[in-house]
Amino acid sequence: MSGTLYLVPTPIGNLGDISRRCAETLAAADFIAAEDTRVSLKLLNHLELKKPLVSYHEHNKKESGPRILERLLAGERCALVTDAGCPAISDPGEDLVRLCAQAGVTVCALPGPCAAITALSVSALATGRFAFEGFLPAQKKERKTRLERLKSEERTMIFYEAPHRLRDTLAELLAAFGPDRPVSLCRELTKLHEEILRLTLGGAAEYYAENEPRGEYVLVVAGAEQTIEAVSLEQAAELVRELTQTGVRTKDAVKQVAEETGVAKNALYAAIVAE
Ligand code: SAM
Repeated sequence: MSGTLYLVPTPIGNLGDISRRCAETLAAADFIAAEDTRVSLKLLNHLELKKPLVSYHEHNKKESGPRILERLLAGERCALVTDAGCPAISDPGEDLVRLCAQAGVTVCALPGPCAAITALSVSALATGRFAFEGFLPAQKKERKTRLERLKSEERTMIFYEAPHRLRDTLAELLAAFGPDRPVSLCRELTKLHEEILRLTLGGAAEYYAENEPRGEYVLVVAGAEQTIEAVSLEQAAELVRELTQTGVRTKDAVKQVAEETGVAKNALYAAIVAE
């Protein structure tokens, strides 16, 4: 019987955020696959655990992944950790999960720290619907195309960014979404210098023209404002008819459709009674 791959989220800055279940899973694993073994060793030392570590990262995943899979198929338990946060979310892991799933190996994801969700929850922006964008593409042309496509995105958007790229990225976001779009810049979450700046893209560009970006950032950007599509009087009248056929009173249907479409109530009422 094959073993299990455990996805173990690790703290994004505060070692106290490792959960008891994550620590127990690390302790019970036969081996740990780590993005950077030196980083994970610090966590294991903090937990007073000694475990065999193998390296699994962006540049060796093609060779390391099949080796890990072989051990899992032989019945071993592997815990996958990355440098910080949730494995497979904008860091290595996605490919290993797919490899295991395709080979019929059980993958068990533990809940825990994730920079994107931590930032979204503190952003004070709409959280009901959001789009996780991770890192923008490295190539300028691809970044431009990606942002072009996001211009009319109405959901709150979450971006990861490194400090040395922050100013350029803010300039590109500003060009795509305009200076008035609200943004929450979530820096060094859970760390000593945690800072949440709730600004507009214009305000953020001005702020970082004066201040050096430092530390790790998640940018949470408000979605585009909903645009009411232009609806003709005839289309609006049809919506009223549909509503009345479901039993809604004409007066209430006219009121509702007028509010939803922006078509004037009087004109709509006149169109309906003229039938
Ligand atoms: N898988 C991780 C997660 O979802 O939490 C993210 C890994 S990704 C390689 C690293 C990026 O996450 C950083 O460049 C930064 O954008 C964000 N990040 C990680 N820790 C952070 C922190 N403490 N504060 C703000 N952003 C952080």
